[in-house]
Amino acid sequence: MGIEAYNSLTTNDSMKRRTFIKQSTFTAMSLALLGANQSHGKSMVEGKTLQVNGSRIESRIMELAQFGKDQKGRGYRVAYTKGDVEGRAWFLGLMKKAGLETTIDAGGNMIGKRKGKNHSLKPIAFGSHIDMVPDGGNYDGTLGSISALEVIDVLNERSLVTNHPLEVIIFANEEGGLIGSKAIAGQLTSEGLKQVSQSGLIMAEGIKAIGGDPDNIQSCMRKKGDIHAFLELHIEQGGILEAENLQIGVVEGIVGISDYEVTVEGVANHAGTTPMKLRQDALLASSKLIIAVNDVINSMPGNQVGTIGKITALPGAYNVVPGLVTLGLEIRDLSAEKIEQLFGEIQKRAAIIAKDSKTRISFKREASEVKPALTDKQLQQQIEASAKALGLSTKFMQSGAGHDSQQMAMIAPVAMIFVPSVGGISHSPKEFTKVVDMTNGANVLLNTLLTLDRG
Ligand SMILES: [Zn+2]
Repeated sequence: MGIEAYNSLTTNDSMKRRTFIKQSTFTAMSLALLGANQSHGKSMVEGKTLQVNGSRIESRIMELAQFGKDQKGRGYRVAYTKGDVEGRAWFLGLMKKAGLETTIDAGGNMIGKRKGKNHSLKPIAFGSHIDMVPDGGNYDGTLGSISALEVIDVLNERSLVTNHPLEVIIFANEEGGLIGSKAIAGQLTSEGLKQVSQSGLIMAEGIKAIGGDPDNIQSCMRKKGDIHAFLELHIEQGGILEAENLQIGVVEGIVGISDYEVTVEGVANHAGTTPMKLRQDALLASSKLIIAVNDVINSMPGNQVGTIGKITALPGAYNVVPGLVTLGLEIRDLSAEKIEQLFGEIQKRAAIIAKDSKTRISFKREASEVKPALTDKQLQQQIEASAKALGLSTKFMQSGAGHDSQQMAMIAPVAMIFVPSVGGISHSPKEFTKVVDMTNGANVLLNTLLTLDRG
């Protein structure tokens, strides 16, 4: 980093700090003002102005980062490994200390319950995950998990009891394919339980290792209507909020992903003796298709993305015209219809390319397809309102990465709050989110939850 960059960063930092201080002052002032006006009622006043303890969030994130240290001194909490087991035990201890009634469900998810005033209401659930990818960072999942605990601690300190019961859910093995949340949503199949996890254990063994019960996996399923709403605070893992100098992302949904294996069949032939006009070059046709995919994706307004990220050309020799090419095509968007529409256009373009190049182009949809998951519109509004009340800037945005919330969306209204990732870096030891941003996100989580509770 150059001096100029460093300077601009510090200026930016101090500006943000000033905004933060201004906000705190604003909230303290509004607390005083609202407090003076008794007609607002006590809980209303406190609900609007409650603040989390940012330094407690930061120190707990750093404490969690110590578990499973490798030779490089970096925490390693890949699901079902020693670091994950130890980190979870530490977290469970904090949940108990906060007075939550804790359980580990059949999927290995850690659940902490807090009673509400009204037992007939369904619980408001919130949380995230504390497992990580190999060589991952300290904030992905942990911010939402530790902030969920922070919300409970703040309510405890103020002796506040919500109307709805509350549930902190720390999902197991998010990074290995949303395993814990899939179990809750009833999407974890017996096939899924047989897959080998990153730890080397098959999923079922891994779930056992963290206290779950894979033989009885259905017992952790929740039905539609069992949970009032699910909220998840998470780092953005991209660079949009930072680039636009915004504080809170209101997530509109988690994109769907459609993958296709594309086969381009031509004729392999002698590269010296086959005249250009007589060739059926599968790689040349593929090159045109790659450009066509890019054109089609860019031809419509919106945030859709499409990528050909994989290619194999056979036989793969200097002196042979390529006869067979396999490509990997991926399309992501919040709308399943749009993905279909884009795919339809790509197929049309492929048919023309195949005809012109005397090749055959075919598409096979991969089973790994992920459906888009939309967040709840009303919850989005509540997040935006909470952020505005705290003096924070917002942006409605989509999540290009997968999250437990997308599984929870099958059984409950869900919402996600994003905070900036420095440099847009994630799934890397360089992953970083500033304390001020973590604090802002946790404050929005807390205040959204209280608004939602008041209904
Ligand atoms: Zn995550």
